[in-house]
Amino acid sequence: MICICKHCQKQYIKKNNFYTATCEACRPVDDMIFAQIVAYLKNYPNSNAMQIGDALGIKPMLVVKYIDEDRIRMSGGSFSRLPD
Ligand SMILES: [Zn+2]
Repeated sequence: MICICKHCQKQYIKKNNFYTATCEACRPVDDMIFAQIVAYLKNYPNSNAMQIGDALGIKPMLVVKYIDEDRIRMSGGSFSRLPD
């Protein structure tokens, strides 16, 4: 399955059903950003994608991607981390 990396926009072959839409090269970056989002949500639980994006210096779309991947959840306008 050929996918587009959400960080570098390169095509990569998805080898398994790992939920992250990220190429191998960007995986450490992806994990780092995810950890920052989780940490931010701990401090500011009622944040939206715009606020998170602004605070972390990333595109709000990127925050939304994590929701698409079911790694974080939005309920009542706020995000929370899903259990692994
Ligand atoms: Zn990439």
